[in-house]
Amino acid sequence: MDLNKIKINRRELVRLAGLSAGGALLAGCSGEQEVAAAPQGIVGKDGKRVLPWSNWSGNQSCQPASRLVPKNEEQIIDIVKQTQQRIRCVGSGHSFSALVPTDETLMSTARLRGVNKIYPETMEADIGGGSRLSTIGEPLWEQGLAMVNMPDIDTQALAGALATSTHGTGATLGSLSSLVNGMRLVTASGEVIECDKDSELFNAARSNLGVLGVVTQARMQLRKSYHIQETSWMMPLEEGLEQAESLRDSHRHFEMYALPHADYILGITLDEIEADAVEERTSETGDAYETFKTISNVIDWLPFMRSFIINTAAQTVEKEVRGGRSFDVFSNLRDIRFNEMEYSIPAEHGPACLREILDAIKKNDIDVIFPLEYRYVKADDIWLSPFFQRDSCAISCHNFHDRDYKQYFAIIEPIFWKYEGRPHWGKIHTLNHAELMARFPRMGDFLKVREHLDPDGKFLNQSLKQAFGLV
Ligand SMILES: Cc1cc2nc3c(=O)[nH]c(=O)nc-3n(C[C@H](O)[C@H](O)[C@H](O)COP(=O)(O)OP(=O)(O)OC[C@H]3O[C@@H](n4cnc5c(N)ncnc54)[C@H](O)[C@@H]3O)c2cc1C
Repeated sequence: MDLNKIKINRRELVRLAGLSAGGALLAGCSGEQEVAAAPQGIVGKDGKRVLPWSNWSGNQSCQPASRLVPKNEEQIIDIVKQTQQRIRCVGSGHSFSALVPTDETLMSTARLRGVNKIYPETMEADIGGGSRLSTIGEPLWEQGLAMVNMPDIDTQALAGALATSTHGTGATLGSLSSLVNGMRLVTASGEVIECDKDSELFNAARSNLGVLGVVTQARMQLRKSYHIQETSWMMPLEEGLEQAESLRDSHRHFEMYALPHADYILGITLDEIEADAVEERTSETGDAYETFKTISNVIDWLPFMRSFIINTAAQTVEKEVRGGRSFDVFSNLRDIRFNEMEYSIPAEHGPACLREILDAIKKNDIDVIFPLEYRYVKADDIWLSPFFQRDSCAISCHNFHDRDYKQYFAIIEPIFWKYEGRPHWGKIHTLNHAELMARFPRMGDFLKVREHLDPDGKFLNQSLKQAFGLV
């Protein structure tokens, strides 16, 4: 066979790898077959073969006694009523924190997917909780509608993304949870609750950490479909820090990727444009992670040249412009796994906090080249939201999944605390119950709602019990 004749586009290949890793095997939620029939697995506590579970980056794992993929809401009600075990829901397994792991029942809602109903007049849609974000852009587009904003990947399940206040960037744009107008949940007693803006549950349910019940559907506020153009360019670090606020205020979306040990920062703006003004994509993947991995390997051999190598590489980055349908442009391919910590701080402290973090990386000679992400998110009223009543700047630190991240994050995390940072619930942090209570002013109210809906803790795991002060 002539191997040269087999042409596989890198993007497609990586996507395939992502599907098997991030979907069926890792999260176990392909939804097409019962997990018990899976060809590989381990012997569960009850003697059945059950697949172990691991999240996307591999830093969280567990061996659930059973894994369930119910077909519909009725099956979820039966499961919740009948099982004696605790249940944790899983979306696409993209959280870095221990929200999902359980040694009891792991339940995926992947089969509750799709755009179920559109409300053209109010530009809303009822969307299945298990729908991957990547699957909803196209059907909404066909109806002339689109999501208001998106995170930087689209592989999360809707209910999973909402559970942790997943967000994109844009000073006037809130998290996905802030765009929820209604929700349908199966509670621990098997009751179905619908909550909307008039419900007392509303601001607890929109960011729920998967502890109030199983979210089967969410009503999302949408907008008219639109095209966007993304422009990215490398600029001197000082220029980026000085201009961050004016760039934030003059573009629909603005974010930066700061290079550790370097004098440069990548700026990215996204703005709405007319369809006929869309420029051809000049970038195939919209992602420079492969390049960074290569640079990282070179620096392993020449650590004393780290700054020189990164600065030299940064100078070669050219301005790029790409445009298209909003949901095509928002999503990036994350084809190198990493671990991540993210805190949100008051928006006005963004540049100072980022500067302090970059200085600390240099001063402590931290062995990291992975760019830090810097975004803006609008305030909301959601009790567990990091953006609760505070326009925020979200800053994230990453390291490759096969590198130690703990030492690095331990040096940076106190800087976030100094700026009154609140952690992203789906990412790594080390805060205990008292520290979380001090940062989320309505957490006590959230915990009362949780206790009322689930007094026996059916939807808890060990990590959540600790976070909620229950152990
Ligand atoms: C590569 C990568 C990029 C990321 N980019 C961003 C970003 O741009 N912005 C951002 O804010 N975050 C980002 N994240 C974090 C991610 O969006 C959140 O952690 C999100 O919660 C993950 O969604 P998921 O579907 O994978 O849910 P999981 O991680 O599987 O679960 C998260 C929570 O949702 C709950 N849950 C899932 N389904 C249900 C259900 N049906 N009912 C009730 N609870 C449920 C789970 O119990 C759990 O508590 C990123 C993560 C990765 C790995």
